[in-house]
Amino acid sequence: MQLCWLRNDLRLHDNHALWHASQNGPVVAVCLLTPETWLEHDDAPVKVDFWRRNLEQLSEQLARLNIPLKILSADKWADAAQLLLDLAADLDAQALFFNDEYGVHEQQRDDAVAAAFTAPGLQCERFTDLILFKPGSLLTQAGSMFKVYSQFRKQAYQRLHESLPACLPAPDEQQETGIKADAVPRQIAGYQPATTQQRSLWPAGEDAASERLILFTEQIMADYDSARDLPDVDGTSRLSAYLVAGVLSPRQCLHAAISANQGEFDSGNPGAITWVNELLWREFYKHILVCYPRVSMHRAFRPEMESIPWRDDSPALEAWQQGRTGIPIIDAAMRQLLTTGWMHNRLRMLTAMFLTKNLLIDWKHGERWFMQQLIDGDLAANNGGWQWSASTGTDSAPYFRIFNAVTQSRKFDPQGDFIRTWVPEIGHLSSKQIHQPPVDDLFASSDYPAPLVDLGQSRRRALDVFKQQGDQH
Ligand code: FAD
Repeated sequence: MQLCWLRNDLRLHDNHALWHASQNGPVVAVCLLTPETWLEHDDAPVKVDFWRRNLEQLSEQLARLNIPLKILSADKWADAAQLLLDLAADLDAQALFFNDEYGVHEQQRDDAVAAAFTAPGLQCERFTDLILFKPGSLLTQAGSMFKVYSQFRKQAYQRLHESLPACLPAPDEQQETGIKADAVPRQIAGYQPATTQQRSLWPAGEDAASERLILFTEQIMADYDSARDLPDVDGTSRLSAYLVAGVLSPRQCLHAAISANQGEFDSGNPGAITWVNELLWREFYKHILVCYPRVSMHRAFRPEMESIPWRDDSPALEAWQQGRTGIPIIDAAMRQLLTTGWMHNRLRMLTAMFLTKNLLIDWKHGERWFMQQLIDGDLAANNGGWQWSASTGTDSAPYFRIFNAVTQSRKFDPQGDFIRTWVPEIGHLSSKQIHQPPVDDLFASSDYPAPLVDLGQSRRRALDVFKQQGDQH
């Protein structure tokens, strides 16, 4: 008997651990509920709800293949090894299979479990599955990890040309094991369920994920290059939450893109090329997390940026969190996040830059808030995005290139439709005025706040602070 430990890889198809376990003999799937650790890691309620809903779907799919799902619970990840050993002993299982995860704590947990399964008569098999390449396998000629994305991508392209990673099938139906499956709990302790709106925006299950992947690659991706920056347009894949919970694999995404682009991934339709490029950014940040683990320990990737004198301003932070900064596009974005658990990429960059540059508030506050709200909260991508915006990370935005929120709003939401959806109290303003409401109008007709900062002055303040920081090094 083999145990397959499922974590953020909640799918039957193209799941390395599950497939290889099934090739070894009968399988029992197992998952571990650790809500206290999830809370410590700031996993958002909407994300935990999505994970739980996907687990529910997967347990039904597994049941059809006669693979029972056992559910263990623990307060801490430190208990994982003993719980899995006990289960193996109960079921007379000799081998444990799982797919690697890449946070520092996740690696510690997994190393401890793997060590426990080296006891006589036991075996542990680990796989690279959540990403395309094993971290540390793409290196510079000097043998170190790339610090610059474009060079990483060049080597990734080369590797993909040499051999495109294939997608594995779902395991075959197995003989009845006689082992009773556990029921997936209806709710996770300590977590609020998601709202009906959130659940309908993000339907659970592999079928829902692959339907969206097909719709995206066949009908939307061709225009991705031009539409992906427009928050009011359905122009991106919206697959991030599925990738984070592992309902979809990056290989499935890559193959779908390639098949919609005449077999190519780095030539042909610009939309397909740009989309594959985004999948490789995902890959890059995971490799950065493993090779430079300090980034996940509240440290800047660029050590010289560690001593920026960030401002301590709780009211401004709260106004930003609640979408009440008085800058319409920022508020619309922050309200989209609060309500749906997701935010458009252009707006993630804009709101992150507004917090770290215009408000001069530490990126770590923003990183944490995003993690606590996002359905697709992912340590590597979130940290990478925040450090990029704060100019403290790899390849980060040069500190002097500060987005002007109003200019960006005019460019990417020209009619103000996105703002009207999320900030209805200024919906009556014309397309010209809505990006920067006239102060008279604010006093006259709504309780919409006046801008928290002057964009020009706050930009100059950030430039002074960042320049001084640069001069000191
Ligand atoms: P698409 O545009 O369709 O891209 C396809 C996939 O590529 C995404 O689903 C995602 O898996 C990956 N991807 C795209 N852009 C990036 C990127 N810049 N970095 C890493 N991967 C990328 N993404 C997360 O998955 N989780 C996060 O917690 C997260 N936090 C972010 C925080 C900030 C401040 C910023 C600037 C970006 C963050 N991103 C994060 C990256 C990006 O915003 C989201 O992946 C994207 O908006 C998800 O929408 P989509 O699936 O429609 O993306």
